[in-house]
Amino acid sequence: MNILSLAVAGHEHYRPELRDKVADLLRQQASGVSYHLPTPTGLRALADIASPEAPILSLYLQLDAQRRAGHAWRSAFNSLRAATLKPITDQRKWQAMKGEFDRIAQALDDELPALGRGVAFFVCRQCKLWQQIAISLALPDATYLGPKPYLRPMARTLDEQDRFVIALVSQEFSRFFVSQIGQVEEVLQISAPNPHKVIREHGQREQKDQSVLDQVRHVARIFAHAAELALTQFEGRWLLLSGATQLRAEVMRELPKSLQQRVGTAFSVEIHARPSAVAAAADPAQRSIEEHEEMATVQQLIDSGPAASVWGVQPTLSALREGRVKTLVVDDKFAAPGARCRNCLALWQAMQPTCGVCGSDAMEPVADVAERAIEHALEEKAALEIVRSQQARQLLTRIGPMAALLRW
Ligand SMILES: [Zn+2]
Repeated sequence: MNILSLAVAGHEHYRPELRDKVADLLRQQASGVSYHLPTPTGLRALADIASPEAPILSLYLQLDAQRRAGHAWRSAFNSLRAATLKPITDQRKWQAMKGEFDRIAQALDDELPALGRGVAFFVCRQCKLWQQIAISLALPDATYLGPKPYLRPMARTLDEQDRFVIALVSQEFSRFFVSQIGQVEEVLQISAPNPHKVIREHGQREQKDQSVLDQVRHVARIFAHAAELALTQFEGRWLLLSGATQLRAEVMRELPKSLQQRVGTAFSVEIHARPSAVAAAADPAQRSIEEHEEMATVQQLIDSGPAASVWGVQPTLSALREGRVKTLVVDDKFAAPGARCRNCLALWQAMQPTCGVCGSDAMEPVADVAERAIEHALEEKAALEIVRSQQARQLLTRIGPMAALLRW
């Protein structure tokens, strides 16, 4: 899909109608693209879907450069299809499932996401579910059949601090992007007439300088509000700006105070750059914010002590079960097998014959206790900090690969 764009007249003041137009375009962009970057709200909506009758197929497929070339993804896709269809003995169910794979193959043939390291599909013809998502992490190939979409592998993409809106601004043209873990997606373009030209044609000569300045302010206000709307629509946490110093300063001034504190250091990229070049140029600014936030959270964990935090895997799992976790902090590289009680849903770092909480023997192994912990945290509406920066991971090693700030 093309990037939606809006042309504003030079004299156009920022009115509610213009605001609605921008918000509407962003909504259209969000619903119109084939592949989305997952948002916390979008994933929560997916998590609420249940299909008791026909199974939902969840499919994860990695897309590296090799697989993108010449439809090379097909052989991995075909293996997944064969392995999923093989155990289905009922002829009708087999046909129905084959139909789902055919639809996905068609969608992949039509278009691969421009960026991202993989795709996820959640489909069920009978319950009218069709979602295709661009994944910014390299997740293993897999399929799952069940009454609900299988979202667990995406848990690590849900750190809200990792979501940015990037705005490239110039006096005549601006572009807005959504970015997550180094992947960007362009969501809006706004063009405005050159202020000098407008003044030349319509302005009074003696008021020229002031008029140019007014024009710049009008346009800056429109850009600032568009950035704010994009942050809301795409659930971005931080804003990054690229553009001339004066215009950036004007845009900053038009932002609400609360948002001014969530603007990263300026970066520089050519206004017509390709999305991959924008991602690369914005990367250092993004990383520095992430690192700063991660360091602050880990330091807070260390400073708050045993009354307000828990350190280490098992204490964190126990606090999750008690519903006490305000912020779950996990080293991105940490993954380890563990166990879960099917009776009370408590998570355990190690397998044991009976549950230490309820005494049940309905214990089952889980492949990755970190993934399960993240899932629990989201259900409890706890915040999530996935620690990716080298410096913060180093600091986190003092207190364990997993820890939490507590509500009580
Ligand atoms: Zn139990």
